[in-house]
Amino acid sequence: MDNPEFDSHLFRTTRAQLDQVAIRLGLESDIHERLRYPRRALVVSVPILMDSGKTEVFQGYRVHHSTVLGPTKGGLRYADDVNLGEVTALAMLMSWKCALIGLPYGGAKGGVRVNPRSLSRRELEHLTRRYTTEIMLLIGPDLDIPAPDLGTDEQTMAWMMDTYSMTQGKSVPGVVTGKPLIVGGSAGRREATGRGIVYALYQATRRLGQSLQGLTVVVQGFGNVGSVAARLLWREGCVVIGVSDVQGGIWNPHGLDIRQLEAHVAESGSVTGFPGTEPVSNAELIERPCDVLVPAAVGSQIREDNADRVRATIVAEGANGPTTPQADAILRDRGVTVIPDILANAGGVIVSYFEWVQGLQYYFWRESEITSRLQEVMTRAFNRVWALGAKEGTDLRTAALMEGVRRVAEGYRVRGLYP
Ligand code: GLU
Repeated sequence: MDNPEFDSHLFRTTRAQLDQVAIRLGLESDIHERLRYPRRALVVSVPILMDSGKTEVFQGYRVHHSTVLGPTKGGLRYADDVNLGEVTALAMLMSWKCALIGLPYGGAKGGVRVNPRSLSRRELEHLTRRYTTEIMLLIGPDLDIPAPDLGTDEQTMAWMMDTYSMTQGKSVPGVVTGKPLIVGGSAGRREATGRGIVYALYQATRRLGQSLQGLTVVVQGFGNVGSVAARLLWREGCVVIGVSDVQGGIWNPHGLDIRQLEAHVAESGSVTGFPGTEPVSNAELIERPCDVLVPAAVGSQIREDNADRVRATIVAEGANGPTTPQADAILRDRGVTVIPDILANAGGVIVSYFEWVQGLQYYFWRESEITSRLQEVMTRAFNRVWALGAKEGTDLRTAALMEGVRRVAEGYRVRGLYP
């Protein structure tokens, strides 16, 4: 089966990764073939009455890649380059991520092709409510559970939960994760992805005979993920020398005071213009000298044309798909340790799982319990991937994908083919 409808850069590379891993694992061709396609994909039109009085129609998607290990799980992104192929690739990555970590979920992803910064709050709310209504038949607490991703946040999840709940005549907190605390969110969910990156980096540096203390760090993207990673790494004694957001980056080789930077961002809306720093572009930031680079913005930031100028010795992927396969090979040949997205940024979905479990049991844990369980799960996953990489003689991305794909494939094997 050929699938022009899923064609996109990220889908081609994600599928190519699966094909390579399938060969390494010696996967049966029937299971491999099933893994190459999403189980189902819904394309919806989302018409919104804009503040101008005009009606605009946005394109939305929700894709379930695999449902074999449980209900599906994955974020919802609002970005102006979202397309079916990209959402499908991201759903596939969620399947490998959840399986790698050992969560009882299949992979899903959703998206709306829109620049959320161009909408008013009222327009965003209407967009979210109408999108939720359009994908209603695919979501539910034991069916598919969305969460925040690029361009969405707690407020988006509150609107989704409310919209779904109104149609059921009762509150259904389990339909989304990443909700505000007051309506059934979990302590520590907002910080989870950034915190998970720190735990992964802690393990990686330990294995490489280093410690976090004193390492120089560059973080691309100062949003939900990057700002938390920067703050926690700074607190661990790292010297954060460069950060950026959509408007540009800042650089200070002596280190940034992240608390003051957060205050500056809260006031001005951007990291740019932070006193005592040199302005740098997002592209330049990737090439600046540092020990650890955390790409935590959008995809395809480390590419064939800049990978040989990355000077970090460790890259921890906060974003999904920030490194292209060609760049990955260049980094590998140069001896750079890449902690791949499905491992490095798994903290988000891990605490989503905790939130979902707490909600189903109507019993909520303290933040210290959440963080210690997160650390335990991240550390276990990191150790498994590291050990598999050493055993198979592969980089960490290949090892992580092998472990994730192997587990999903095992699910297909034991469940068999219906009918
Ligand atoms: N969007 C996040 C991810 O890519 C979190 C997904 C979730 O919590 O379900 O992993």
